[in-house]
Amino acid sequence: MTNKPDCILLTSLRATPTARLHAEFNVLVAPTAPAERLAFIKAHPDTRFVAASGGWVPAEVFQALPKLEIVSCFGVGYDGVDIPAAKAANVPVTNTPDVLNDCVADTTMGMVLGAMRKFPQADRFVRDGSWLKGGQALTTSVHHKKMGIAGLGRIGKTIAKRAQGFDMEIGYYGRSKQADVPFKYFADIADMAAWCDVLVVITPGGAATRNMIDARVLKALGPKGYLVNISRGSVVDEPALIEALKTGAIAGAGLDVFADEPRVPEALLALDNVVVAPHVGSATNETRDAMGNLVVDNLIAVKNGKKPLTPVY
Ligand code: NAP
Repeated sequence: MTNKPDCILLTSLRATPTARLHAEFNVLVAPTAPAERLAFIKAHPDTRFVAASGGWVPAEVFQALPKLEIVSCFGVGYDGVDIPAAKAANVPVTNTPDVLNDCVADTTMGMVLGAMRKFPQADRFVRDGSWLKGGQALTTSVHHKKMGIAGLGRIGKTIAKRAQGFDMEIGYYGRSKQADVPFKYFADIADMAAWCDVLVVITPGGAATRNMIDARVLKALGPKGYLVNISRGSVVDEPALIEALKTGAIAGAGLDVFADEPRVPEALLALDNVVVAPHVGSATNETRDAMGNLVVDNLIAVKNGKKPLTPVY
């Protein structure tokens, strides 16, 4: 028997946060398949602490755990958490903001450079011997171009800082104009798409932003425009994007996120004007340690009777 409280673990953490979690809690590692997970959670109804990912915490979790005191999520996005159910159960939900801003902004610039300068294609070009038959086709400059950022939040502002280092002009779209922001504001995302050379999407996912990037926005972006999606796959109408890439309605895309991860449509992978990555925005050892530690810090705070450090509401 242990006198440490139980903590159900619904995500994976690296070694340091895992060791810290085990030092404070009796860790119950849940199975990964959703149906088995729910059965496992229901079998531990007295649990007060849950460490999760923002991708999967349905209402049933709150209903099954009447003594729950916190759901501590790994990641900044929490579009898979049933927030109304959490509020109804009076359970705080936390995420891991800020500690990943730099990493996700670095990834975004990598995707911008990848899509516009075609570095992944260049790598393939050398490896498959194509260079022996002639040079790679010219690509598109990034510096001094216009970047439109959909979602100028914590990460969006960090991306803007990076883009300024590339002498880019910056515009942004969001639900409202922000005070003290020197960038051009667009109230309509299609107007920003028509203005910019590269449209970077870094809003949250979920119902409010579903298919925000649709055929209308892609048409406005135009045949010289690039799309970089680093937010959530749900924000982009994927069939409309495939069509736009196929027909040359836009020039190219860099995608870190997809509608049905880890499945990526074959029709998308068949195209050479798209650069893809397996949702690696924050995927470095350093950043994943920082995120994991914040997950544990939130749990410990609540265990010690303090307020959660980074609540989402
Ligand atoms: P944040 O600080 O909350 O910023 C979100 C921004 O999106 C805000 O500027 C907000 O502006 C805008 N926004 C929110 N809802 C909107 C809507 N319905 N329509 C238009 N704009 C909207 O969040 P963050 O920390 O920067 O993170 C942003 C997102 O990045 C996360 O939610 C997650 O989905 C994604 N992300 C992806 C990765 C990855 O690995 N690819 C890693 C980390 C995060 P207004 O309030 O003015 O509208």
